[in-house]
Amino acid sequence: MKPAVFLDRDGTVNVDVGYLCHPDQITLLSRAIEGLRLLRDCALELVIITNQAGVARGLIPPEQLPVIQRAFLRLMRSNGISFAGYYSCPHHPEGILPGYRRACDCRKPAPGLVLQAARELDLDVQHSYVVGDKPSDVQLAHNTGATGILVLTGEGRKHLENYPGDCSPPHMVCDDLYEAARWIAAREGGSSRG
Ligand SMILES: [Mg+2]
Ligand SMILES: [Zn+2]
Repeated sequence: MKPAVFLDRDGTVNVDVGYLCHPDQITLLSRAIEGLRLLRDCALELVIITNQAGVARGLIPPEQLPVIQRAFLRLMRSNGISFAGYYSCPHHPEGILPGYRRACDCRKPAPGLVLQAARELDLDVQHSYVVGDKPSDVQLAHNTGATGILVLTGEGRKHLENYPGDCSPPHMVCDDLYEAARWIAAREGGSSRG
């Protein structure tokens, strides 16, 4: 089993444009690639875990999700970054699209997608990290036994200033993905795991 970094996408790796529905809207946050390269060099598996409720809400055509996923992964590969997995939840309990309007076990902070990734990719979740810009990302870490890092890009700063009382606090708060990667790399360098 290998440890992983479960990464939120919008607001963490790329600019959160609100219901991103076309590859042309993918703009990487500054230093995101540098951060991902650091994590890659720590021999951590990289996995995207993203809520895409825009599908259930009728704002993102379902057939666009794989198109965006392919474009995102292609952009990453062109920067030397390979993701071990990429998982999306298209559901929302108050959605309007039949089949997608439901309470599921894969919408963050529910652990479904992390558990699926762990099963499919043989990951050691207890020694893994979740990095994201929302309390639901941090709560996902707590719900799965991983270490949760809140980044202050995307909606991170807004959420930190008004952190919900019913959410577990982050293990660490970092300015951006690059700083989060540096913190993780320092911890991994200090551990005895090979
Ligand atoms: Mg986000
Ligand atoms: Zn779901």
